[in-house]
Formats: sequence, C-alpha cells, structure tokens
Amino acid sequence: MIQVWLRPGTQKAAASGHPWVYRNQIDPAAGDLAAMPAVEPGSLVSVHDSRGRYLGSGFFNSNSMITIRLLTHQHEVLDETLIERRIEAALAFRAANRRPDTDSYRLVFAEADRLPGLIVDQFGDTLVLQVLALGMARWQETAAACLAEKLRPARLILKNDDPIRLKEGLPLEQRAWLGDLVRQVTIRENGLLMQADLGQGQKTGYFLDQKANHLRLRRFAANRRVLDAFCYSGGFALNAAAAGAAAVTAVDISPEALILARANAERNGLADKMQFALANAFDFLRQAVTEKRAYDTIVLDPPAFTKSHGARDAARRGYKEINLSAFRLLGPGGILVTHSCSYHMPEAMFIETVLEAAWDARRTVRILAVHRQDFDHPVLGSYPESHYLKSLWLEVIA
Ligand code: SAH
Repeated sequence: MIQVWLRPGTQKAAASGHPWVYRNQIDPAAGDLAAMPAVEPGSLVSVHDSRGRYLGSGFFNSNSMITIRLLTHQHEVLDETLIERRIEAALAFRAANRRPDTDSYRLVFAEADRLPGLIVDQFGDTLVLQVLALGMARWQETAAACLAEKLRPARLILKNDDPIRLKEGLPLEQRAWLGDLVRQVTIRENGLLMQADLGQGQKTGYFLDQKANHLRLRRFAANRRVLDAFCYSGGFALNAAAAGAAAVTAVDISPEALILARANAERNGLADKMQFALANAFDFLRQAVTEKRAYDTIVLDPPAFTKSHGARDAARRGYKEINLSAFRLLGPGGILVTHSCSYHMPEAMFIETVLEAAWDARRTVRILAVHRQDFDHPVLGSYPESHYLKSLWLEVIA
C-alpha cells in the first residue's frame, strides 16, 4: 500500500480516530509521495505521521479537498469482507432499535458507520444506495450485493445524482440495481403513511433524521393550534394532526413539497384540519406577527443556512429572525420546537441564539429538552461532524 506521510503537527485528528485527511495536511515530499508524481484517484493508502508512525488506512482522491478517507485506524486488511462486516454491524444497530410502526430507516450513514461516502436508506421494501466518494465507488457492487442478500428488498436503487459526486470525479446516474426504478414509495412512519419522492425529492427522498422528533411532537399537539414552518412533506404537521391538534398550518417555499404534504394529509384522513401555505417562511412568520395570529405550538425546521464556517454570522441572523417571530406568536404555555441542521452551527451557539431571540421578544422560557437526529443517523465519537441536527424544545412560561 502506498504510504502517505503528514506534515509535522497535523496528525492530531487522524491520531484520535477522525476519518478525514485534508490535502493541506499531506507532505508531498515525504513517504512514497516523494518518489511518486501521482497517486491514482481511488487507490488505497496508509497514513503516517511526520515520523512515519502508522495512523490508519483508507482511500485517496487528489481531486477532493478531503483527500484521504480512512476506513480504519488499526492494522487490518482493506477488502470486501471489511465492507461486508461494516454493513452487518450497521444493520445490527438498526435492527436492535427499530420501532414497530416505522418501516423506514437510514441503514448506513457513511463515515458515522465507518463506511466513508456510503449512504443507504431503507424505505419500506425499497433500498436506496448513494455513493459520494470515489474510493467507495469501487465497493458499490460489494455493498449492493451484501444488502440485497441480507435484506431481500423488492428493489435496490442507485441514487447517484448528488452533484458532490462531480467534485470526486464520479458521473451522475440514477438506476435500479435490483427491481424497477420507482419514483415514489409509500413508507410507514409512526403509523402514518407517508410518500417519499426518490426522483426529485430532497435528501434521498424523505427526512428520516426527524422521525423521532416527529413522534415527540405528539405530546404537544392535542387541542392546540400548530404551525409547521419548513414542513417539506409534512412530517411534523401530520404527527400533530394525528395526535388531535385543533388546527395545523404547514408552510413551505417549494410547491413540490406542499404537493407531497397535502397528499400525505389526504391519504391519512387528516386533511380537514390542515392548511397548507406556499410561502417563504420568513415572510409568513413576519406577516403572522403583524396580523397578531396566535399559535400554541410552533415547529421551525429550516434547511442548513450555513454550509461553511464563514457564513456563520449570516446563519445566526437567520435563526434569530425566525425564532424571534415564533416567540412573538406564542403566549404563556406555548411550545417552540426549533432546529438547526448545520454542523457549522454548534449546539451551544444555536441555543444561545434562540435564547437571545426569546429575550428580544420579552419571553421567559423553560428549556424542556435538546434532542438530535434519530438513532439511525448515529453520532460517532471521533467524528464530530456526525452530530449535525439540533432539536431544541422550549416552553414559554411568561
Ligand atoms: N420538516 C421537514 C424537513 C424540512 S427540510 C420534515 O420533518 O420532513 C427544509 C424545508 O424547508 C424544505 O422542504 C425546503 O423546501 C424548505 N424551505 C427552504 N427555504 C425556505 C423558506 N425560505 N421558506 C419556507 N420553506 C423553505
């Protein structure tokens, strides 16, 4: 295996189990690179500190800023049996935590399951596999065959259409590896029938990471006026309606999202107490404040405002604004469930921003809980990026 050595002082993350090595950590004049003009993208390499001590092994891609993705930090052979063992471990963790009325889970969460660049979602009897790193593309067949054998799905779809693949030097494609290429599948989440759109849909078709929080919302929904802002296909809104909300308003800026949400409401016989608004949620909330509308429970689940560290201040302002509006709409006893799904907004900073908004709105609040993404998007200790979703639950007490 080709030996890559790191520059002095840059080994800390890899030495503590982090799966990434950035281009600027690599010493081009040391190890095998000193004698080698180029390493073929996708090759397996071993990583060493500046004195040659072994740190781990993984795959190399000079086209990517994250130039090496480590599969292991131990001395073990990197072959298809390693990939199979990792998939088995990931499946076992899901199997141990499944809920009886939910048939859809993320089965493999890339680096967090020690399978860099590989995402696998189960939507009922359909598996959706996504490869986001060149090195992992070599094991796509191994992964698909292993999953098909263990789970016997009706279909396995390769949804390799994320533009991030272009940066890795991978083509965009979408095809069925097993069964037919369906666009829409119906899944069961918390006993509700939900439509997941595999073709045009966001994420791989459904926000599986929020399903535990969807369920938690039921406790704060009965006989209440609920607002679900940034609703996508209506996960929060439908769970609120199912739990006996007096009225539910669901808002999204995407017409396709609202079509899904409305169809889901009708399918579950919950449409009569639900309203759908096609709007920019920032404007919708501002308008609601101006019109002095009232809600008892508000959910905010915006997309990542910041995909980089640099845009953090702008992101903070975005969170501040929507949370401020939400607090203005809530009176004593009101519940705010507010989210940030950007890794670049640390939990402490997110909480601080929301509490500033509460204070600006002159609300006294109790922090009920801080949750995160559901268990099937595991958080790996040595990979802090795997904790990305913050779910903050607050009660307005005055
Ligand atoms: N709450 C959803 C997931 C939300 S994802 C669930 O639990 O399944 C974020 C959503 O915000 C997307 O559907 C996107 O279309 C929508 N969105 C993005 N910007 C928006 C804006 N300014 N106003 C309203 N919706 C927006």
